[in-house]
Amino acid sequence: MTSLDELPLRADLRGLTPYGAPQAPLPVALNVNENTHPVPDAVVGDILDDIALALTDVNRYPDREFTALREAFAGYLGHGLTADQIWAGNGSNEVLQHIMQAFAGPGRTAFGFAPTYSMYPLITQGTGARWISGTREDDYTITAEDAAAQVRDADPDVILLCSPNNPTGTPLGLDVVEAVYEAARGIVIVDEAYHEFAPKDAASALSLLPGRPRLAVSRTMSKAFAFAGARVGYLAADPAFIDALRLVRLPYHLSALTQAAATAALRNSATMLRMVDEIVEQRDRITATLEALGYTPHASWSNFVLFGGVDDPRAVWQALYDRGVLIRDVGIPGHLRVTAGTEAETTAFLDALASIGSSS
Ligand SMILES: *Cc1c(COP(=O)(O)O)cnc(C)c1O
Repeated sequence: MTSLDELPLRADLRGLTPYGAPQAPLPVALNVNENTHPVPDAVVGDILDDIALALTDVNRYPDREFTALREAFAGYLGHGLTADQIWAGNGSNEVLQHIMQAFAGPGRTAFGFAPTYSMYPLITQGTGARWISGTREDDYTITAEDAAAQVRDADPDVILLCSPNNPTGTPLGLDVVEAVYEAARGIVIVDEAYHEFAPKDAASALSLLPGRPRLAVSRTMSKAFAFAGARVGYLAADPAFIDALRLVRLPYHLSALTQAAATAALRNSATMLRMVDEIVEQRDRITATLEALGYTPHASWSNFVLFGGVDDPRAVWQALYDRGVLIRDVGIPGHLRVTAGTEAETTAFLDALASIGSSS
């Protein structure tokens, strides 16, 4: 067996660990913030019709500019956006990678306020850039003044603001985005992967795009849209920003089948997003029940809850696993993270946790 050390790997990749959330076939999987409700049957039929149509042309390369899909995303996002302000990729991870390839890379830096999404440092390092971690308050919030000061100090080429933040669920005010943009010379990305789970009147950073050509707002169909397996993420930014991403994407990166499926799903967005209210209800139920059990859940505007007061996270994680419930140890001492599932899945998690009863 050859070991990795024996291969002529890039020096800056030596010793790194790949992304590795466990994929265990447990009855209740609440570990990677998927929408656990399947795509509604009526929409499945519509998507299949469009995929069938796309298959009749699959001997040809797909539309490299995925025009119909970009128009559909512009329509879904609103805010007066047009297709020339939209980009998409195979998951927002690929979109973020395109941004890093275009604006980070060797000799450059990317910055985020830790703890934040674990893929940011990995995508950064994958392009040969260096990751810089900023800090948050004890409750994981960030003030505009402190954020701007940290950004001025680090002077990064790319800044990633996760709103609401994963893995903590913490909302991020637009005042922070504005202050960071003013303080930065580099690109500012607001990752709104969980925006649909925020209160209905929560402002999106999309409203800040006019006049800010270094700002991009990324979204995904993996969470609210129940489309994680299809791999579709997207962003909105200035048309010049989109042109920069065209320099680094592989030609025809979005397959004809992906484009067809995503466009059909967006045509049915009202039905696709039907379960969001139910998931938010389960999230709030998790928070209330965790409090009653003596844990300390953090405020969440997403579809998951990070909770503290766990004496031995590894042991609790394993005890839940042994009861058929998969949640996430995100490496924050004394904490675990759980995704809000269906009512039945959420009940299974809460009952299992209560039966372990090991909160400090
Ligand atoms: C889940 C998640 C994404 C989405 O990733 P995809 O590649 O679109 O599945 C992006 N950002 C954050 C913070 C996430 O939690």
